Amino acid sequence: MNGDPLTQEQTITFQKAAKSGDFVDRLLGVLLHTGLTATEFTHMHDNWLDPLPESIEACEDTVPIIRIPSEATCRKLKLGVNLEIHQRTGRCGYCKDIGYEKWFPGQPDSDCRVRNVPVPDEDTARTLYWWFSRYSSTPISVNSLKNRLSKLAERAGLGRNITPRDMRATYGTNLVRMEFSSREVAELMGLSTHLLTREFFEAAGRPVDWPENKSDSTILAAIAENEPVIKTEIGGLVGIHKSAGTKRASDLIDRGLVVKVGERQGKVERLTTYGVNPEMLEEEGFDELVDRCSSDGEKSYE
Ligand SMILES: [Zn+2]
Repeated sequence: MNGDPLTQEQTITFQKAAKSGDFVDRLLGVLLHTGLTATEFTHMHDNWLDPLPESIEACEDTVPIIRIPSEATCRKLKLGVNLEIHQRTGRCGYCKDIGYEKWFPGQPDSDCRVRNVPVPDEDTARTLYWWFSRYSSTPISVNSLKNRLSKLAERAGLGRNITPRDMRATYGTNLVRMEFSSREVAELMGLSTHLLTREFFEAAGRPVDWPENKSDSTILAAIAENEPVIKTEIGGLVGIHKSAGTKRASDLIDRGLVVKVGERQGKVERLTTYGVNPEMLEEEGFDELVDRCSSDGEKSYE
């Protein structure tokens, strides 16, 4: 998805700025808590909300849900230069460009789908109901959404730009920070597979929650070929996330298959370096690896 998520600190700064802005800024804040794509957000209608705006009073304690439908009419409103709301006719630029008669959430191979997005954040729910009890659709185009986000980032003093994709990536990363599983995140975001959540786990600094399919012998072979190595290098050697590599290394160290071989000066401290333990490899049945280690010219165990 190529979004660059906000850090937790930036998320708070952004939220404050969105809340203290005009109604468009407040609506933009909704993106943080829903992960809607730019075209979903700009094509959102009052009837996507469950409960519907007219019955929200009767459902006080429920968490509202945004039900993204399989198709919708194009947005019906536009913003004037002084933020006045106008009716619009015909299709928006996005739908016209892409040739949609009606808007629908993504092409068949797209990573955004028909889905239900709960809105547990009360401020966000309040903003949505405040808007959609007055108007039937959002009033801005994809382009003005991008522009307004950039301006909001500037006003908030974030020191970086924000795009709709960044907002969506922030939503995904925050879900991982809140301990949602990869499958739950994929479902909430309408991703076709939980494997697409990897970037959120990486941004949150957490190992992915699915098996990475790297066998012990693959990891041991990589260590044997590159030793001495430090724990945090091991993930990179086999193409898995750094923290996942460190975790696997700790496991191999616990089992005695990998042992301390020395130290290396890091940026700030001395780091322990590791290599494989041929004796234990043999004992645990990694015979092929033992052969490889001993045929390696640099290593001899006479
Ligand atoms: Zn449209």
